[in-house]
Amino acid sequence: MHELSLVKSLLQQVEPYQDRPIKKVVLEVGTMTCVDPERLVFCFDMVKEEAGLSDVNLQINMQQAIAKCQQCEREFKLQQLGQPCECGSYHYTIGTGRDLNLIEIEFNDV
Ligand SMILES: [Zn+2]
Repeated sequence: MHELSLVKSLLQQVEPYQDRPIKKVVLEVGTMTCVDPERLVFCFDMVKEEAGLSDVNLQINMQQAIAKCQQCEREFKLQQLGQPCECGSYHYTIGTGRDLNLIEIEFNDV
């Protein structure tokens, strides 16, 4: 249950802000993290009540993974691992797209 452990660490990150009513939490998920966004939301919905976050919506923004080819030095969108660069090379480094970040917490105005 990869997603559930991610949700638990997300809850830990959100916890210090819970003295104000939270409306929305925005996550940025890289396409190379192997995280299924639907599962992530599902897990979040499962635990949010217990965490005192029943009114919180989880929004997930997917971040396209970008790789840089070591052969032709071009940057390209990496759709999946094992995909070659346009020049045919498999030697590239993945820049963005491997992280899962909490990027925004939106509060309800009281
Ligand atoms: Zn290349």
